[in-house]
This record gives sequence, C-alpha cells and structure tokens, in this order.
Amino acid sequence: MQRDYQWARRALLDRLEAQGISTPAVLTAIEEVPRETFVDEVQSVRAYEDCSLPIGQGQTLSQPYIVARMTELVMGGETRLKRVLEVGTGSGYQAAVLSQLCQTVFTVERIGAFLEQARTRHRYLGLLNIRYMHRDGFKGWPSQAPFDGILVTAAPDDVPLELKEQLAVGGRLVIPVGTQAGGQKLTVITRLADNEYQTRWYDLVSFVPLLPGELA
Ligand code: SAH
Repeated sequence: MQRDYQWARRALLDRLEAQGISTPAVLTAIEEVPRETFVDEVQSVRAYEDCSLPIGQGQTLSQPYIVARMTELVMGGETRLKRVLEVGTGSGYQAAVLSQLCQTVFTVERIGAFLEQARTRHRYLGLLNIRYMHRDGFKGWPSQAPFDGILVTAAPDDVPLELKEQLAVGGRLVIPVGTQAGGQKLTVITRLADNEYQTRWYDLVSFVPLLPGELA
C-alpha cells in the first residue's frame, strides 16, 4: 500500500532540528530521501519514528538522529564533499542520504544480499552516484582512496589503522568505537597532515559490531 509520508518526514525534520541538527544541507538531504523505502512493509509505518529499525540478519538501521548526527560530523561544516566511503551499507539508507551531499559515495558491505537490495533501492530512487563493494570493510577500499570522509556504521573495538590511512588530508573518519552496546563512543578522527591525526569524542551510541569476513 502506498502511504503519504510527507507530513511524517516534516515532523521528523522538526524533531531533528530540536535535537540540535543544524546544518541546512544535512536536513535537506534527509528531507529528500524516503526512509520508508529502506525498510520492509511491516516496518515502514515506523519509518519516521525516532528509533532504530530491524533490517534482517540481526542488523539495524540507526535512528534518524544518529544518521543525521554522523552525516553532520562527516561533512565537517562543508556543504558538499567529493568522495565519501561508507562501511556497512545495510539497508542503503545512510548511503542514500550521503549521495545527496557527495559527488560519489563508495559503500562496502560484508553481507552480499544487503548490497544487492540497497543497489535496487538506489536505482529505484534514481540515485546513480553510489559505488558498491562486497567486502569486509575493516580494510576500507584502498584502490579508491583517499576519501574526504569515511563513515562507519558498525562498531569495532579499536579504530582500524587502514581506515585512518585512507583519509585525505583534511578528511574525517566518523566511527563508533567500543565493545559495549550503548557505551560505544562516536569518534571523529581528522587527518590534519600526512602523519598527524586529531581525535574527538561525541555521543555515546549503540551499534552492531563490525565483524570480520564476508557472507553471501
Ligand atoms: N548504514 C546502514 C546501517 C547498517 S547496520 C543503513 O543505513 O542501513 C551495520 C551494517 O554493517 C550491517 O549491514 C553489517 O552487515 C555491516 N558490517 C558489519 N561488519 C562489517 C564489515 N567488517 N565490513 C562491511 N560491513 C560490515
């Protein structure tokens, strides 16, 4: 059934603004992407609630506030970026939001079925500036590096060195770090120079773990 989600999307934007999301380009990107397209029919009525949603295989699509927050952090005050890497494609929603703000989004996912589903959803919405890779994202996407931003949507115990090294100078890595759900730190690492990084910590968050290896 086709529902009209326009009002719900507007209410979500008001809520995000009240929660402190202030970058106009990020709010516009969220307004442009129909979140209901990225969850199954049963979940779609909840697409605009401020909660995370199950997307199958024990994985979750983050709550809208966290998607907005991480997007804001990876943009770092810029309105447009050239190349951004996402690790953990999942439903494809975060990649779709990034596609509004970047020239090209590179997204890596260890579960092949998720990647195909995301690709289909993006095509359906006419989003053509996203590149896909079925791979364990601990190692990033070296052949496409350097990136102006890297956004990781699952939590490792420590920041993978390879990801830091794939940042362009001035680029930002946004990543939840830690083992304890609810106690992971949203971390932003900025590459200031070739061998100089700055680390800042933000919200406490709850992500699924970043896991090694690939699945079909
Ligand atoms: N950004 C997603 C959120 C997905 S949840 C969205 O918008 O829906 C986290 C995702 O990270 C899951 O799909 C999980 O399979 C994936 N993941 C976990 N470990 C990974 C790894 N090492 N490499 C790539 N993807 C990984």
